[in-house]
Amino acid sequence: MRDIKEGDLYKVIEAGGRTLEIRYGYYDPALERGHTDLMPIFPNFIKTPLYTIDGYPFVTADQEICEHFRPKPSISNEGWCNDCTYLEHCEEFLGICRSPERQERKNE
Ligand code: SF4
Repeated sequence: MRDIKEGDLYKVIEAGGRTLEIRYGYYDPALERGHTDLMPIFPNFIKTPLYTIDGYPFVTADQEICEHFRPKPSISNEGWCNDCTYLEHCEEFLGICRSPERQERKNE
């Protein structure tokens, strides 16, 4: 098995008309890492929003819910985007929020 270094490419995901490069890294700042292993880092779409070409926001499955959260049956009112009926799963942790309330309207 090859040695994986921080910044190495994990995979390329095509979704929503975009191409996302997922690279290895750490979620925690250097001083708080301890002995955690490198892992694929999915973008923080809260900090840096990214939209599909038709204007829907990308989300991660473990992203905190927004005010438009519509829980799947049997899910409580607290959860993650993964628990929301608007989540369209892409690959792994990546998804697209299909809430009409969250679609970016470019021509209004
Ligand atoms: S999937 Fe969309 S509507 Fe549902 S909680 Fe996440 S951001 Fe909000």
